[in-house]
Amino acid sequence: METYEGAATIEKVASLCRRRGFVFPASDIYGGIGSTYDYGHYGVLLKNNVKQRWLDAMLRERDDIVLLDSAIIQHPRTWEASGHVAGFSDPLVDCRTCKNRFRADHLDQESCPRKPSKRPGEGPECDLTEARQFNLMFQTTVGPVEEAGTRVFLRPETAQGIFLNFRNYLNVMRRRPPFGIAQIGKSFRNEITPGNFLFRLREFEQMEMEYFVPPDQAAAAFEEWVQARFDWYVRLGLDASRLRVRPHGAEELSHYSSQTSDIEYLYPIGWSELEGVANRGDFDLRQHMEHSGADLRVFDPATETHYLPHVVEPAVSVERIVLAFLVDGYAEEEVAGRQRTVLRLHPLLAPVVAAVLPLVNKGGMPELAERLYAELRASLPVEYDDSGSVGKRYRRQDEIGTPWTITIDGQTVDDETVTVRDRDSLAQDRVPLGRVRELLAHRLASSTDLSPGD
Ligand code: ATP
Repeated sequence: METYEGAATIEKVASLCRRRGFVFPASDIYGGIGSTYDYGHYGVLLKNNVKQRWLDAMLRERDDIVLLDSAIIQHPRTWEASGHVAGFSDPLVDCRTCKNRFRADHLDQESCPRKPSKRPGEGPECDLTEARQFNLMFQTTVGPVEEAGTRVFLRPETAQGIFLNFRNYLNVMRRRPPFGIAQIGKSFRNEITPGNFLFRLREFEQMEMEYFVPPDQAAAAFEEWVQARFDWYVRLGLDASRLRVRPHGAEELSHYSSQTSDIEYLYPIGWSELEGVANRGDFDLRQHMEHSGADLRVFDPATETHYLPHVVEPAVSVERIVLAFLVDGYAEEEVAGRQRTVLRLHPLLAPVVAAVLPLVNKGGMPELAERLYAELRASLPVEYDDSGSVGKRYRRQDEIGTPWTITIDGQTVDDETVTVRDRDSLAQDRVPLGRVRELLAHRLASSTDLSPGD
């Protein structure tokens, strides 16, 4: 597949997210602050599920990875050692006519604000400056007085916090390569042209794992992690024909990397990086060892020598994953002569697993529905929904991606059975009230070989 052919557009997905309480533009009442978003109830639940599934893959399905949550602001020398002060920049051009700024290496993806059918620089009035390097790190100062030595950076990646703690994991956690350290946390990049909803943000949440291996195992570990991360998306239901692995050419590699492959997804904006897997070699540990003077080598008892491990890193943001699953799951279809929009999220990602709907608010139905809701709520993310017609409630649940809705109707009062409606097949099964919890747990468990989260 070369071009995107699904029903979703970035605008449609963004509009659904706002309408249904997933994602709101940040500072909206002040007119917004470009490409910055706040996550509403369902957005938080969806992001939590993405993170939990990532942690499942890192921690539950293997036992050689441990966790870290490091500070956002580290010693400024961190970023000198890592190469970010000198090299973490994008080429920037200004247009003297319209005063807009563009990434010089992305001009072919942008349009001229004055003449949108043209690229920047192609319009008759365009007047672009020469490209200059713009460092993407946000700077701030620590302490009450702005003076020399107080300048610090908001981290542009979580990885460096892991390298700074490497020695603690050798000494305190008694780990020896091969092992990994995984971290989830906010990163900040002063992107020149953020945009495309959640795709390119200035503030985003990264999930990074640094896998430390003896140097001769790095190439094999790299291949394994590319495959493992690709499979993770497919297991969670992402359309495999919209996923591909793209190895970087030599000219494209970052300053720290000897080998990188992007896992790309076919977003409505075209094939774009979803996740990057890099073989960072010993670049980071070596740099920190030289800049800090701390010995970060590992002792190998077999050869009685010290060595610096190599590092393989899968790195991704929660937001690019969320956008991929929203786009992939988005569908518009006609059901019984009516249009519906549905989000086909995997049950282990859906913010709400099941909704309990009393058909009407009388005749003993609300009491039975509340009883079932209380029982399910103890072990599953469920919702009670009794406002509006049942058709409206189905549409609402379809749009937030709820896999199953349970309706309590007149027959429930007579024989204690309910209908369980399936979001995708629209099949309605009549099952005993007392068996709903077991049925949902079973369907959830059999929806994947990943076990449900806590
Ligand atoms: P790009 O080429 O798209 O700018 P990158 O190669 O600079 O990305 P990395 O430094 O490899 O990205 O970051 C690792 C991951 O973090 C990316 O694969 C992506 O999932 C995520 N990421 C990077 N920048 C952003 C951003 N501005 N907004 C959201 N996610 C981001």
